[in-house]
Amino acid sequence: MGLLDGKVCFVTGAGRGIGEETVRRFAEEGAIVYGTDLINGSMDESFGKFCTQYKTEVIPMYFDVTDETASKSAIMQIKREQGRLDVLVNNAGIMQDNVIGMISYELMKKVFDVNVFAVLQITQLAAKLMMRQRSGSIVNISSIVGSEGAAGQTVYSASKGAVAAMTKAASKELSPYGIRVNAVAPGLINTDLFRAIGEKKIQENLSHVRMGRLGEPIDVANVITFLASDMSAYVTGEIIGVDGETHV
Ligand code: NAD
Repeated sequence: MGLLDGKVCFVTGAGRGIGEETVRRFAEEGAIVYGTDLINGSMDESFGKFCTQYKTEVIPMYFDVTDETASKSAIMQIKREQGRLDVLVNNAGIMQDNVIGMISYELMKKVFDVNVFAVLQITQLAAKLMMRQRSGSIVNISSIVGSEGAAGQTVYSASKGAVAAMTKAASKELSPYGIRVNAVAPGLINTDLFRAIGEKKIQENLSHVRMGRLGEPIDVANVITFLASDMSAYVTGEIIGVDGETHV
């Protein structure tokens, strides 16, 4: 028996990093998993492998989460093919920033479009289905900087703070329908997004992690799996840190 046997799950930003590892863990636990990412074909190989390895359905869908029409079609496709949606993981996110004084309005809008508005929109679409079922689990990906902030990351920090706040608000509104809404707040996780800051900065940042190592995508995916599963049936409105005691 897997933790997610038969559950229908949807993971955004599933092409690499935390999203891809979450899809793998979900499949390993017996879920039927839909994943979306931007680049056509980028998930075909990994998803094919997960299907064979875990003997379940792992289905790629290619679209930009900021595309409202495409997001709606994706949720409708899941409804048509499976009749339900048990788990939504709002993982797709971008980290782009600049120092105060140099932040363009365009950059603010771009980051908030992906990290905040798309999360709100896809949550609404998924919640409609889940409300009818009177069950569901939504897991958002915030960040340690969403509560602590980081110099040079005002926009990204603000967007992740918004994710934490919307998690709490949505949890209050949706719990009467049996829908749980939680978030994870990762610290420094060893993915392409994080590694883009460069080796020198990575080493500097590592000195702020009391556990003395970067987190791996599986460290985050395991907590997401717990929040997606019935193991956390009475947990909602929580922001769970996955940071090995990091001080930003
Ligand atoms: P990543 O960049 O390695 O992977 C993110 C994936 O999301 C990519 O495959 C990308 O193509 C996809 N994506 C981006 N914009 C998209 C869009 N508009 N539509 C569809 N897909 C899109 O990042 P990651 O490190 O795995 O991060 C995953 C999440 O975790 C993000 O929300 C990120 O902000 C958050 N996070 C990461 C860290 C870290 O240290 N890596 C720390 C805290 C929070």
